Amino acid sequence: MSSTVSVARFLARTRAEGPGERTAIWVQGCAIRCLGCFNPHLWTFRGGERIGVEDLAARVVAADTEGVTFLGGEPFDQAAPLAEAARWVRRAGRSVMTFTGYTRAQLHQAADAGDQAVAALLEHTDLLAAGPFLADQLDTARPWVGSTNQELVLLNDRFPHLLDGLDRTPDRIEVSVAVSGQVAVNGWADPDALDTLLSGLQVARSRSTP
Ligand code: SF4
Repeated sequence: MSSTVSVARFLARTRAEGPGERTAIWVQGCAIRCLGCFNPHLWTFRGGERIGVEDLAARVVAADTEGVTFLGGEPFDQAAPLAEAARWVRRAGRSVMTFTGYTRAQLHQAADAGDQAVAALLEHTDLLAAGPFLADQLDTARPWVGSTNQELVLLNDRFPHLLDGLDRTPDRIEVSVAVSGQVAVNGWADPDALDTLLSGLQVARSRSTP
């Protein structure tokens, strides 16, 4: 039987969660629990929709974007099924970006110690955004990440010039309004600026932290 991923939100198209137009998948559950996390509702491992790996990968490929971005929640807390999904997505020629609250060193230590799931998700990730969110080190210069300690790491040559042009890459948030009136936000912005923007609105936030 195919393994499953616990998914909190699937967004077919966004330009706020990594390079180009991407499909974003927020996974349910995070063991890291950074102070100031914007998605504490994604900490619990209860809830979320369990989606089979092949089904999830097929939905990504059908969206016909540059690739997929895994966010959370903590993708490496579901490393095995996400690695499998990432493998399918890349086999279809799409790219994989993975956010994690673990540091790059922690992930490589785990892989070196024999954690095959972590090693596999690293192997099938093109661009890694690594490190916990630190609320006292807000990053207002780079796109996608929330704090200055977080690293953007190219794990292969899929995006050869990405890091050279980061200062010219816009840092976006996207706000969508459903017919029900519910407002959803994705992307990362300074918390005070976002609160000002959204004050008075009914908001379901899915932010790109860590
Ligand atoms: S910022 Fe990311 S890694 Fe940190 S607690 Fe929130 S979901 Fe987990």
